[in-house]
Amino acid sequence: MRMPLIAGNWKMNGSLTLVEQFGQAFAEAALAPSVEVCLIPPFPYLGAAQAALAGTPVALGAQTLNPEPSGAHTGEVSAAMLAEFGVRYVLVGHSERRSLYGEDDVAVSARVVSALEAGLTPVLCVGETLEQREAERTEAVVLGQLEAVFDALAPESRRRVVIAYEPVWAIGTGRTATPEQAQAVHAAIRRRLAAYAPELAETLRVLYGGSMKADNAAELLAQPDIDGGLVGGASLKVDDFLAICQSAG
Ligand code: PEP
Repeated sequence: MRMPLIAGNWKMNGSLTLVEQFGQAFAEAALAPSVEVCLIPPFPYLGAAQAALAGTPVALGAQTLNPEPSGAHTGEVSAAMLAEFGVRYVLVGHSERRSLYGEDDVAVSARVVSALEAGLTPVLCVGETLEQREAERTEAVVLGQLEAVFDALAPESRRRVVIAYEPVWAIGTGRTATPEQAQAVHAAIRRRLAAYAPELAETLRVLYGGSMKADNAAELLAQPDIDGGLVGGASLKVDDFLAICQSAG
């Protein structure tokens, strides 16, 4: 049985006030114990979010990391630093990191390894562009991104990864994949996981991300191979995010 995970990625948005607001709302909300929730604010808010979410069931996540342990990397943050703030999950290979900051499969793979070494759970983001979908390359692209990381991992490390399927054309566009489109790719991911090890296909969580909102979450989450959501825009409004968390429980 895979426990659904709803992760809210604030990207470069939010404020200390919003952190406080979320802390208060989730302290009072009756979240079902059958769903896990994670909040992923920008780096400067991690300390405040750690304090605000203490005593709530909400886990803390980070948006990226540098794979090096320390050194002359101005502006970067290591896995061990994130762990010091109680971070449990870290996004790796988000399409914005891939397209805006040039993170290729090698860079993504190094970040997954570094996160695992620090005891963090990497949320490996994979997804095709509209052009790739229209050229009927969706599965090849998505499975290629998955294999670039999984082929290099030891079997016991593979068990510790969360996967997020995020069609690039659906991120921040308001254009959500239909439940059928999403389910088809999730099923392909799970078949590939089964080829690594049947147990991986049964236990690894594969989240959907791409314009998930309070009014479409339930039908996406009802698909057999969708185990939660990576939510961008709708995670910035506490009521909307709570409603998505509740539809997963
Ligand atoms: C994301 O940033 O991963 C995302 C899915 O964003 P949005 O929900 O806004 O499409």
